[in-house]
Amino acid sequence: MKVFLKLLARNRLALAGGIVLMLVVFLVLITPILPLADPDVTNTANRFKLPFSEGAILGTDHLGRDLLSRLLWGTQLSLAVGFAAAIVAATLGATIGIIAGYYGGRTDNVIMRGVDMLMAFPYILLALAIVAALGPGLFNALVAVAAVNVPFFARNIRGITVGIAHKEFVDAARLAGLSDTRIILTEILPNVIPVIVIAMSTTIGWMILETAGLSFLGLGSQPPQADLGSMLGEARSALITNPHTSIVPGVMILIIVMSINLLGDGVRDALDPRLKSGALSRPMAATMVKRDGPVPAATGDGLLELQNLQTQFHVKDRVYRAVGGVSLHVKRGECLGIIGESGSGKSVTALSVMGLVASPPGVISGGAVRYDGEDLIGAPYRRLRDMRGKNVAYIFQDPLATLHPLYRVGEQLIEAIRAHRPIGKEEGQKKAIELLEAVRMPNAAKRISDYPHEMSGGMRQRVGIAMALANDPDIIIADEPTTALDVTVQAQILAMLDDLRRSRGLAIVFITHDFGVVAQLCDRVAVMYAGRIVEEGPTASILDKPTHPYTTRLMACVPQLGEGKRRLEAIPGLPPVVDKLPDGCAFADRCERVQADCRTGEIALERKGDRAVRCLHPVTPLQEAAE
Ligand code: ADP
Ligand code: MG
Repeated sequence: MKVFLKLLARNRLALAGGIVLMLVVFLVLITPILPLADPDVTNTANRFKLPFSEGAILGTDHLGRDLLSRLLWGTQLSLAVGFAAAIVAATLGATIGIIAGYYGGRTDNVIMRGVDMLMAFPYILLALAIVAALGPGLFNALVAVAAVNVPFFARNIRGITVGIAHKEFVDAARLAGLSDTRIILTEILPNVIPVIVIAMSTTIGWMILETAGLSFLGLGSQPPQADLGSMLGEARSALITNPHTSIVPGVMILIIVMSINLLGDGVRDALDPRLKSGALSRPMAATMVKRDGPVPAATGDGLLELQNLQTQFHVKDRVYRAVGGVSLHVKRGECLGIIGESGSGKSVTALSVMGLVASPPGVISGGAVRYDGEDLIGAPYRRLRDMRGKNVAYIFQDPLATLHPLYRVGEQLIEAIRAHRPIGKEEGQKKAIELLEAVRMPNAAKRISDYPHEMSGGMRQRVGIAMALANDPDIIIADEPTTALDVTVQAQILAMLDDLRRSRGLAIVFITHDFGVVAQLCDRVAVMYAGRIVEEGPTASILDKPTHPYTTRLMACVPQLGEGKRRLEAIPGLPPVVDKLPDGCAFADRCERVQADCRTGEIALERKGDRAVRCLHPVTPLQEAAE
């Protein structure tokens, strides 16, 4: 709710609309206690007085009635009828829509064909027909306006409900034995209410206009009672001679409908979950860079080099140090593993390389990322875009989420190539098949015309890898690419990545939380904790002699076959939240070797040979481990 109000307030036009509408509503609410003339008392001696004349600020109409008084009372009536019609239409329409969408099948068919029939009439005609049948009068006008708007709501809500009724959480509720009514009330309704509110907020203005229209034609409010429409209707004959009698209600209608529509659009934008999740805050094309310190000089270590990289999230007045000074490098043809628990900053590190961390809230606050010596952090967006996919490609965890559901995988592969060089249809097709063959997709020529949902998880990840290979990158950053797959498929994918690395000389940065995977694939490994590297070295050496207590705990989490009944060790406690990191070692609270000096000062990453560790009391002395 707070987020909603904030988003709404950020929208200037909606805010203005809301304020104007509130003013009007306030005026209308205090109308009964204002010292106004009686709106219905005629005084023909005072006909057509002009605005600002004595005793009648807005003048009088053709029967000498006070226009200000009539305007306020009329506005009250118009607003009340418009809102009432909207609420009736929304309630009825939503009920019909939910029932049709939830039960589906024949119920749906019968209801929706009825709704279609109603929609087939031009609806002002339908409203006229209803009022003609019921007889003129404000209440009947309300009924007519509500009735012609029911189909709109019913259709909208039915569409949403159909989508929700087949979601897993609804199935789960059904399996839990909930009755249909309970499911509709507790599972479906909360999900459609925002849509109902959106539909209402965008149609209320229209319904007020329709009611005014019926009154204008003499079918709504009956004399002497005034609403905005009937005031306009009565002023019609004096339109030329005394225009103020038409202008006064006309301007009020304009003000009301404009403000409601502006506010309604704002409400829609703020409530729409897709817009709410960031589309309104417009992320930048590349991560924001605010480096305070000096840029580290190039050292020429490796093809890709991270130097003291710092990435933060600025959320309100908090600063989350997701990556707190990470230095790493990877050479051509080498595989570097980055390992750590969930939340240790692995993904943010990986995304920072190509400026892919969403800004706001992401900010790269220090350090450098060098590709072949070139600093990418300060590079212009064009340069980054040019390099994304061509020099450095990514593979993500969930291929179902990264592939477009509506395009065939072949088209998506070709699109990935086209991002960097023009390619003809036939050549693209050939290249797509080649790529799928490279990732050992069985029957590649046929598979390119599959949609992502027609493939298994392992095959989809192969497509993901093929896309990463599309422009022959030098480096692939794989962010937990096998975490969503089962163990046998994982083994196949790992073997394939290893082959690709050898045959193409690819450098791979492989992110995982599984030491088993690291052992299988990586030459070197860096252990991350709370946004920092705590241990680094060649995989074999670290597996043989781990030094950081955290590394030993991570290794103890890997099950090993044939080892008898060993307990799998969970690491007690949780990683620290990165906006309030403790002094000293971030792992101290969970460490069994902790001493008093672990909790003070900055603990440096100590290097010895090709090993490095950030610990005052390592399991194995660094000296010994590095031998
Ligand atoms: P992982 O090692 O599991 O890949 P991440 O790199 O995704 O971890 O996250 C590192 C830290 O950054 C976590 O503490 C996470 O809460 C924080 N973080 C990630 N994205 C955001 C964000 N958009 N806003 C605030 N904090 C974030
Ligand atoms: Mg991650």
